Amino acid sequence: MPGKSTITVHADRETHPSRAVAPPIYQTAAFSAEDAHAFAAGAVEPRGKDFYTRFGNPNHAQVAAVVAELEGTEAALVTASGMAAITTAVLALVSAGDHVIGQKSTYGGTASVLLNLLPRLGVSTTLVDQRDTEAFAKALTPKTRLILVETPSNPLLQITDLRAVAELARAHGVLTLADNTFATPLNQRPADLGIDVVWHSATKYLNGHSDVSAGVVAGPTDILNRIWDTSLLTGATLGPIDSWLLLRGIRTLPLRVPRHNDNGLALAEALSNHPAVTRVNYPGLPTHPQHKLAIEQMNGFGGVLSVEFTGGYDMADAFLQALRYPRRSASLGGVESLAVHPASMWAGMLSEEQLTEAVPPGLVRLAAGTEDTDDLVADALDAADAARNRATTA
Ligand SMILES: *Cc1c(COP(=O)(O)O)cnc(C)c1O
Repeated sequence: MPGKSTITVHADRETHPSRAVAPPIYQTAAFSAEDAHAFAAGAVEPRGKDFYTRFGNPNHAQVAAVVAELEGTEAALVTASGMAAITTAVLALVSAGDHVIGQKSTYGGTASVLLNLLPRLGVSTTLVDQRDTEAFAKALTPKTRLILVETPSNPLLQITDLRAVAELARAHGVLTLADNTFATPLNQRPADLGIDVVWHSATKYLNGHSDVSAGVVAGPTDILNRIWDTSLLTGATLGPIDSWLLLRGIRTLPLRVPRHNDNGLALAEALSNHPAVTRVNYPGLPTHPQHKLAIEQMNGFGGVLSVEFTGGYDMADAFLQALRYPRRSASLGGVESLAVHPASMWAGMLSEEQLTEAVPPGLVRLAAGTEDTDDLVADALDAADAARNRATTA
């Protein structure tokens, strides 16, 4: 088996061969067929690549080939965003009357699928504390069809025991779907631990340059074919150019992730010793309550950390304002460092009660880019000093 860096450069070579060294962009909505037989066959080929772009496109197939090999799955499918990936997968796998288990600490869009979309369609849901594997077992009912997991979780960086949840689910004939956006297949391969289907917001690390919205789903061929069937109806098709950009981004994923890991760890270590900081959530720190589990299932801990400030909402906001390199932005996973204050970002979206339950007011999420480690650490420490001085002089 070739290494990850070789996979990202070569895994799509035979997908749609061409003599062009860089893959051509198939900027076309449709493909022609040679005869009636070929036309009929193209219409029903699951995850085909040259019938109609909503059904598949060579640029999609190339990304899918690379992601499937990176994640160690049989197949993959590209969608127009991460949310398109999760919504299409869930709609393909559950029906009215079914029950789905998800996590309390999870990406906001996933939480909304669990709390709003599914219940409206007659699918009941239970959200559990993912740090407690027993909680998943207790939430199982005879109607449970699917368990959605996300680890490390956004923005609290809590860890889910993927092997334990996968074993539990398998024993009950329940499918598992894991959001691997934060870890990337470089740091964690959920399928190796028994998870059935893996999905990503490819907008983040997979693309890595903050210039494309995209999603991917990876898993066994039979399940991927069901998800593909539903994708024809949801129609969240990634444009060929964006798919080409995504492939270009993925080529350097194995070069970028180690730097994100180094920067994430260095920021976590430096900030956890700062007097303005109550706690740092980062699975790579020995002080993280689930550090041992993180080491067991991860090869690196990623570029995202969250930092809680002693001075609450105002000090967190002052820290963001004082940062020189990380800009205030909702995204992550690109070469540029970004930061958000979840309590102010979500203020308009959640009720006050939901907000206090979701995140402490003094929490900042930092997404370390690929800048030089020393520059990011010095900047973060200066900004923490500035936030503390402002609080003491105010
Ligand atoms: C951004 C994100 C998503 C949603 O993906 P989009 O590409 O924005 O639709 C899902 N999960 C996680 C962990 C994310 O960070």
